[in-house]
Amino acid sequence: MKKRLITLCSTFIFCVGVQAQEFTPKQLEQVKQVRENALNSDLSWQLLESITTEVGPRLPGTENDKKAVAWAVEQFEALGFDKVWTEPATFPHWRRYHESARIITPSEQPIHLTALGNSVSTPEQGITGEVVLFETLDELIAAPQDSLKNKIAFINYRMNRHVDGNGYGPAVRARNNGAVEAAKKGAIAYMMRSVSTTEHRFAHTGGSHYQPGVNKVPATAISNPDADQLERLISSGHSVSVNINVQSEDLGEGTSYNVIGEVTGSEFPNQYVLIGGHLDSWDLGTGALDDGAGVALTMAAAKHIKAVAQPKRSIRVVLFAAEELGLWGAKAYFERHAKSLGNIVAAAESDFGAGLIYGFESNVTANALPIVRAIAKQLAPLNIEYIRANAAHGGPDLIPLRERLNAPIFALHQDGTDYFDYHHTANDTLDKVDPIKLKQNTAAYAVFAMMAANSKNKITNK
Ligand SMILES: [Zn+2]
Repeated sequence: MKKRLITLCSTFIFCVGVQAQEFTPKQLEQVKQVRENALNSDLSWQLLESITTEVGPRLPGTENDKKAVAWAVEQFEALGFDKVWTEPATFPHWRRYHESARIITPSEQPIHLTALGNSVSTPEQGITGEVVLFETLDELIAAPQDSLKNKIAFINYRMNRHVDGNGYGPAVRARNNGAVEAAKKGAIAYMMRSVSTTEHRFAHTGGSHYQPGVNKVPATAISNPDADQLERLISSGHSVSVNINVQSEDLGEGTSYNVIGEVTGSEFPNQYVLIGGHLDSWDLGTGALDDGAGVALTMAAAKHIKAVAQPKRSIRVVLFAAEELGLWGAKAYFERHAKSLGNIVAAAESDFGAGLIYGFESNVTANALPIVRAIAKQLAPLNIEYIRANAAHGGPDLIPLRERLNAPIFALHQDGTDYFDYHHTANDTLDKVDPIKLKQNTAAYAVFAMMAANSKNKITNK
């Protein structure tokens, strides 16, 4: 017992010792100052208001997307970043022109529908068919071959609400693959209950894809109340037919740009902390939560750091292009920088709205945990808990990085309880963002990035 106590104590003293060595008292004082400055600054809000108001929706390949790239370059320069540059990324360019739908039988009435990204058009007068309801994608996959000839496949899967958004993954399968599976059974169109946690009548768009050799049918989503209406009609025994009208266009390959702003490190300029979000958005709303917030708060965080002290390592704010259409900017970035990915000492993306950050989690080797604990200590005053699982995945744009190497990835977990009420809808607008919560997010990213850039030892995950 006595021996165990001694071991625990010496481990504790060792840990405290390492933490103290990683950061000087002066550095910790600067961290505190940056945290306070961020909490008292409107900068992230100003940036968010500017991009959502002066640019608005930012579907890749549109004029607005070009404006967003120019906006980001201009803002980075105005904020005094040491280096600002763009890197091209190509993506499949798709455009939405018109969409509408109505129930034809048993009683004519409009329904609120949106085309999923990449959806093909219907004929000009739309496409009409009887609706066949499936509760899940798997149920559709299990349907007999050719059982949906001249019919519209409808997946009625309802997403559940959770603080960490864990209902999204299971629900999004039907968005990604539903149209392909429907076409395989002979359907003329595909419709799904939106990937949504709310009862407003905005339909939620999102990425979908086709498969070579499988007929491309229009891919759509309807709002929750409209899905409820169809469910009631069908379950009471009616034959329900719907007319769907989608006018869209596949414009071939498009090009957009990742925009990168760097605060250059004073000692190790090649090593860098990567923070950021994605610059593009869907076309229905103004992309305030997804992902104007992530763009604005990471830009502001780096600016707050630079204003107090130049970091030892660089901080790169990467605003990824064309995330919504399939992580195209991220794929281009990590391909282009494939040979120097080991220079990334920490990476975190903000792409989950603007709810309060409640948890901080790492994915690093054990020898870097003292640095992580020291960062967690400085995040605690922001009511952020240290999550010790050490299994952070980071945001979607970090997926291509994770596929390439075991990078030191961090997660600043946001409360996403209501994120999927607005996500990918016309209702994703600035008023959904709480300025106070945005400040907390900004302060958290500033503390994290500053400390990851300044630790005595480099954070590793090898
Ligand atoms: Zn996003």
